[in-house]
Amino acid sequence: MEGLSWNAAAMATGSFKSLVRAPPQLSMAVSDYSAVTWSRSGGSHSIRAAIAAEKMPRAPLLGWNLPDVWRPRPNLPPCPALPERNLAVEPIAAVIDGKAIAQEIRGEIAGEVSRMRDAVGKVPGLAVVLVGARKDSETYVRSKKKACEEVGIKSLGIDLPEESTEDEVLRAVMMFNDDPSVHGVLVQLPLPQHICEEKILNAVSIDKDVDGFHPLNIGRLAMQGREPLFVPCTPKGCIELLIRSGIDMMGKRAVVIGRSNIVGAPAAMLLQRHNATVTIVHSYTKNAEDITREADIVISAVGVANLVRGDWLKPGAVVIDVGINPVEDPNSKRGYRLVGDVCYEEASRIVSAITPVPGGVGPMTIAMLLSNTLESAKRAYGLT
Ligand code: NAD
Repeated sequence: MEGLSWNAAAMATGSFKSLVRAPPQLSMAVSDYSAVTWSRSGGSHSIRAAIAAEKMPRAPLLGWNLPDVWRPRPNLPPCPALPERNLAVEPIAAVIDGKAIAQEIRGEIAGEVSRMRDAVGKVPGLAVVLVGARKDSETYVRSKKKACEEVGIKSLGIDLPEESTEDEVLRAVMMFNDDPSVHGVLVQLPLPQHICEEKILNAVSIDKDVDGFHPLNIGRLAMQGREPLFVPCTPKGCIELLIRSGIDMMGKRAVVIGRSNIVGAPAAMLLQRHNATVTIVHSYTKNAEDITREADIVISAVGVANLVRGDWLKPGAVVIDVGINPVEDPNSKRGYRLVGDVCYEEASRIVSAITPVPGGVGPMTIAMLLSNTLESAKRAYGLT
């Protein structure tokens, strides 16, 4: 009980998040949280008594800011789990080929850029702000620039050193905000620890927020009858895959696994806008398998290799696998290969359509960034 009170005090004072950042305190804090939820199941009277006795903090209106961590289930068999039973059946799922669909979209964008050049003598411009020298971020930025060049979008960028101050990053964002030849400003995440991500993202002009992460764009996306200027690229790519594959969302039961700001939450909002009935499954969901098994459409954005097994899925469902997870592979030159959140070998024998990893959602994300930049330039030049 002492641990519970300690944790309760930490949460009540808002220091919970910072406490759990340190690994030794993480397990303690998370197990204490389990104790809080467990004691709540004792009934409302005992909860109120515990709150009154100050043994439990009262929940804040906007909920606890708890870490979105996953406690792995013990004894999870490797994927595929039941080769004798499952793999005797041939795969039946249609492959939703994100690479081919993204290529088609890039072709369409190149055509529109060329028409814009002919009509107004201008092309769209995308600026990327990169801070620090993370290898993965540098690779992403390079591929974004290359994709721009391929479709005729002008690409600009600034590479700032790791030790840049918040003001220097803000100045770079403002410079691109003020540049009329730039229609999209993108800050490559993650930023170095000493820079406040929220402050920087809020500084991106809402008219140039091609990542769609500005709170005003997210807020409009969440509201009926309001139009965001931009929709975040990865969830937009997921919906585009469904639409271009002829999969109707209206009235369907959809489950989104994951609730991050950049994928899960906006994907759920988009599905809802398409009149699906949406459930979000996250790291604190109980019986995630049972909930997911009811879905006609599953979008998984977790980041845990092969979390979603064949028996999580309803026969005939459609699966969009956003996860990109490296797993050891001694047969690969790099020593690892990429897999999704969904055990593809099992799922492809149960569902009606599925995206592969790689080659599913990944290529769509960049295609949607180009599409958002084009939309922004069309708005700026009054083209339809
Ligand atoms: P994140 O870590 O911010 O969010 C993960 C979410 O998964 C959290 O909301 C958490 O609640 C949920 N979760 C964790 N464990 C769970 C469990 N056991 N059951 C149910 N839910 C659980 O991650 P993110 O940024 O949203 O990315 C998710 C994955 O998508 C990662 O693999 C990432 O690499 C990939 N991704 C791919 C693309 C792309 O272009 N294909 C783009 C962005 C992210």
